[in-house]
Amino acid sequence: MRTGISVEEARRLVLDAIAPLPPETITVPDALGRVLAVPVTAGRTLPPADCSAMDGYALRAADLAGASRAAPKTLAVAFEVAAGGSAPRALGPGEAARIFTGAPLPPGADAVVMQEETEAAGERVRCFVAPKPGEHVRQAGEDVRAGEAVLAAGTRLAAPHIGLLASLGRSFVPVHRRPHVAILSGGDELVEPDEDVTGGRIVSSNAYALAAQCAEAGALATNLGIARDTPQDLERGLRAGLASDVLLSSAGVSVGDHDHVRPVLEKLGCRLVFWGVEMKPGYPLTFGRFEAGAGPLVFGLPGNPVSALVTFEQFVRPALLRLSGHRTLTRPVVRAQLGETLRKKAGRLHFVRVTLAREGERFVARSTGNQSSGVLSSLALAQGLLVFPAEATELAAGSVAEVQVLDADVLAAPGPALA
Ligand code: AMP
Ligand code: MG
Repeated sequence: MRTGISVEEARRLVLDAIAPLPPETITVPDALGRVLAVPVTAGRTLPPADCSAMDGYALRAADLAGASRAAPKTLAVAFEVAAGGSAPRALGPGEAARIFTGAPLPPGADAVVMQEETEAAGERVRCFVAPKPGEHVRQAGEDVRAGEAVLAAGTRLAAPHIGLLASLGRSFVPVHRRPHVAILSGGDELVEPDEDVTGGRIVSSNAYALAAQCAEAGALATNLGIARDTPQDLERGLRAGLASDVLLSSAGVSVGDHDHVRPVLEKLGCRLVFWGVEMKPGYPLTFGRFEAGAGPLVFGLPGNPVSALVTFEQFVRPALLRLSGHRTLTRPVVRAQLGETLRKKAGRLHFVRVTLAREGERFVARSTGNQSSGVLSSLALAQGLLVFPAEATELAAGSVAEVQVLDADVLAAPGPALA
């Protein structure tokens, strides 16, 4: 087991251990946000035939050569084609067909003149423009051609992809399975939110916050409840999560007398890959796996609420995204100017809870207050986590640092350039 490793090394050890989960086939409307497991090839051509892009008249462009407002040309209206209909016959020279958006172009026609450029006159139509061949015509296959690869494996399905799959006549689609995550909280002091908190008890808030983080990452979380600080009770609790894809335990991974998580995991057959990451908050993070995939990936998260959430954010979230087939595993990162000077000792990378204000062309990061790993309220205020590198001891006001953006709305806030 490795110990005292860098954040970067820990991330590599976690992600190297993970491949996307196998596919499952689900209905297209359910697939929003899921990741395509195989490429999609078009089974049909879209549009299936040349059709009109406008309400107007389908005709032969050559018949209107030289036409203009001053010198209109008149054609005989032979028939009408509505969307969903079809032409009764081919269009002859000197003829036009009344046509509506989406209706198939009659054979013989090669252009459409929009209604606004014409004047109806009984059985005839006066045209004020000379269209080029193909004008206002949607060509067969201009969207998709049968046999063409339209969506690559690894595509995260958004609304246009769902629409495209539907257009192709697909009802089902193979996507990567979503990871099942089991969450166990350990600690004699822990109670549920509606229970008595006298006598130094605290609510097991981590179970709720971690489940919310799982849901936000598209994973399916199950709360295994609270285990007492005994090896026996912890073992019982951890066993309940062995059938999941990922097992998260919170607390009990430090070096205290009541911290039994690591030895119990080893007893269950879990190989601990690392314990201790040079970061703050979150040093005691533990990661383990079962050989040959015979059990879940295991994260022993520190118990302090901010440590649990920040280690989830740095390691568990990317892991869940990779299991779900996602290619992008990180949050957006912006470079922000410091609104105040930050100092720390060299050695551990700090994730500093900050607000992000857009000031002109730049972002300015300011601490949200008390950075203690037990102070959840300052994480609730944070719009980003500022990366204070391990060896740095000071980031002066006005200097620039990277910030992981937790609240993507920050990116949408209009600066003066957009206002
Ligand atoms: P431990 O890792 O057991 O030393 O716990 C560190 C700190 O986190 C202690 O102050 C615990 O009370 C707190 N803590 C542990 N588990 C939870 C939990 N599930 N929810 C909220 N706080 C917790
Ligand atoms: Mg404890």
